Amino acid sequence: MEQQTTQTVDKVEYPCAACGTRNRFPRARAKDDPKCGKCGEKIFPRRVVDVVDATYRPEVEDCPIPVLVDFWAPWCGPCKISGPILERIAAERAGKLKIVRINVDENPRSAARFGVQSIPTMIVCRGPLQIDEVRGAIPKAALDARLDRVL
Ligand SMILES: [Zn+2]
Repeated sequence: MEQQTTQTVDKVEYPCAACGTRNRFPRARAKDDPKCGKCGEKIFPRRVVDVVDATYRPEVEDCPIPVLVDFWAPWCGPCKISGPILERIAAERAGKLKIVRINVDENPRSAARFGVQSIPTMIVCRGPLQIDEVRGAIPKAALDARLDRVL
């Protein structure tokens, strides 16, 4: 019985960013930037992914690699600065860090859950655990330094 439980915990099932096929692989392989068994593309996204309240859990909490969540809104000036920075980091750290963004106007549940008072606010999560938080737009070098420290 105990062995069964361990196996369930050690395997993850995660949808391919390219084709959506759910791939099952050992959790330990998540750090190797695995490829999809169906389409052959990398399973983890290379760019920023839009997440809504309803997809927060599968996209963030169930993700086997760390996730940076950017709380933003289209009318927010500083968000227009941090958006392209996050796109670059999503490409540079692909397979090591997933980056998602949540529109706070359309997804009040997620924003309230993390007490987001101002935007942009960025949090870094490992599964359901929050491991860092950055409030306001910061230069790419500063954000990279923060990420290097916590990841
Ligand atoms: Zn695929």
